Amino acid sequence: VDRRHMAPGRRRGEDRSMAIHYAGPTPALAGEFYKNVRDGAAQRETLQHVVVAALTGRAFVVPAGHVARIVCHAGPQIVDVMIFNRHDPRERLWANQTLNREGICLSTFSRLWGSLPMFRPLMTIVEDTVKNVPSETTARHHCILGAHCNPRFWRWGLGTDDHPFAQRTNCFYNLLSAIEPFGLGREDVHDNLNLFQKIGILPNTGELVMEPSDALPGDHVDFYAELDVLMAFSLCPQGSGANPPTTPDQDPRPVTVEIQSTGIDPLPTDVEPV
Ligand SMILES: [Zn+2]
Repeated sequence: VDRRHMAPGRRRGEDRSMAIHYAGPTPALAGEFYKNVRDGAAQRETLQHVVVAALTGRAFVVPAGHVARIVCHAGPQIVDVMIFNRHDPRERLWANQTLNREGICLSTFSRLWGSLPMFRPLMTIVEDTVKNVPSETTARHHCILGAHCNPRFWRWGLGTDDHPFAQRTNCFYNLLSAIEPFGLGREDVHDNLNLFQKIGILPNTGELVMEPSDALPGDHVDFYAELDVLMAFSLCPQGSGANPPTTPDQDPRPVTVEIQSTGIDPLPTDVEPV
């Protein structure tokens, strides 16, 4: 008797797969609406076109129904991104719940969820042109579990305080300097999206690994604002992610930020606070 054919569907591997559940219940995306926003890119009007210098931070107001396009015009560059409700900055990107809803790495039609008591999408990605080059660690781009580098991160990596990255040239201080003109401070710097960063997970240990970004010059990600938001960016000293944080020889580049009007009002976002 060939036992392999006796109990189809009841082998150990298949039993285990039956026990896998998606981590978090999530309302369905209004797919046609966002495809329409994406497909209307050629009709958008560019209201702002700003080149953000390498190793710096900057924040932009993105009105509801507008798109913020982040372009790696000069090649791959990791950008740390925070998002706030423009009118109530206590409502801000909730990285952990975005991870639970959308997965570890975001892409086209991922939603960026905000904090309680509203717990609603603040922005939705309508286009991501970065192509993931397959990797052994199944690494992908735009990771939502990495947070931002800071003086201690670089002190530990470089083994010294005597380097600009271990002082003020890092994502913490870039994000802080980006939001200070808007009346926000240290306590408002929150866990963030790592745009264009390629992150994988080692299956046997669960450790995170960074791989060089696959973004090409001109690759971009479009974020559609569900309400008036403030987006803050830091151009990370880690540059493309090609070098480990134990070396000071990084490859930082500028990026372009465009704010575009779409002429498409968002779907209703006024949920009851919990
Ligand atoms: Zn950084």
